Amino acid sequence: MTIQWFPGHMTRAKRQIEDKLKLIDVVLELIDARVPQSSRNPMIDEIVGSKPRLVLLNKADLADPERTAVWSAHFRALGHEALAIDASSGTGVKDIPGKARELLRAKIERQLAKGMKPRPLRALIVGIPNVGKSTLINRLAGRNVAATGDRPGVTKGQQWIRTGSELELLDTPGILWPKFEDPEAGYRLAATGAIKEEVLHIDDVACFILQVMAPEYGNVLKERYGLTDLPEELPDTQSAAEVLEAIGRRRGCLAGGGHVDYEKAAGVLLRDLRSGKLGRITLEMPDN
Ligand code: GDP
Repeated sequence: MTIQWFPGHMTRAKRQIEDKLKLIDVVLELIDARVPQSSRNPMIDEIVGSKPRLVLLNKADLADPERTAVWSAHFRALGHEALAIDASSGTGVKDIPGKARELLRAKIERQLAKGMKPRPLRALIVGIPNVGKSTLINRLAGRNVAATGDRPGVTKGQQWIRTGSELELLDTPGILWPKFEDPEAGYRLAATGAIKEEVLHIDDVACFILQVMAPEYGNVLKERYGLTDLPEELPDTQSAAEVLEAIGRRRGCLAGGGHVDYEKAAGVLLRDLRSGKLGRITLEMPDN
């Protein structure tokens, strides 16, 4: 899916979510657990405002569990609730209604004290493209309700989806634009497949990812690609390109004259990363 995010689209997407906020009790902010910062919308705090928020670290099956725990603590420290999930298999999804209720406990108790009848909580899923919104909606609904490939600025009739628990969901998720202004966020999003890699040079993406991975996940790279003398740090693009070349040579990604085809080598690395063949990897931590 490609979305061209022109300023007009961004304004419309923001306004649409603001309209829906009036209808709901809690926002389910869906992010990618492998790139929790880069996969957030840069204006999310402004858009969601003080509405209670449950941050859902999706694709946790592909992310480093220790790092996911650090990120969850980070989001709780910011005043949100946080939960790691895997929307495609359903892991963690059944805990969403309970977490949402925890966030709204004070409000629910006030209503009960006034003798009001408790009603199901109403929620809206928001997130950037490809983060798993449709997968999660279908999973919560227990059937196929969300068409993948929704576009911003296109509204259908709005419906509440019952989730079989005390939670109702708006059937159209809020689609938000990713971080464009930060080139490193772009590389991280391209590496996970959230943005099309044609926008960036795939070998640049691969070199950046090697630099990110070398210090923490060097052993994984050494083992998979037989890189016995991989340094602990790859301080510049040149040193990363040398590692990419070694990967290409190892994997037989050759162009004419025995030279390594860097694009092919980059393709090997990124496919391995996305499919989980390099193990569970998280590409950023809260302070970077
Ligand atoms: P949307 O654009 O936010 O609605 O994203 P989709 O629901 O279409 O999901 C994008 C891609 O991510 C699809 O290929 C999904 O199968 C995949 N996906 C969604 N959730 C998960 C998850 O928790 N784990 C993994 N491994 N893949 C997921």
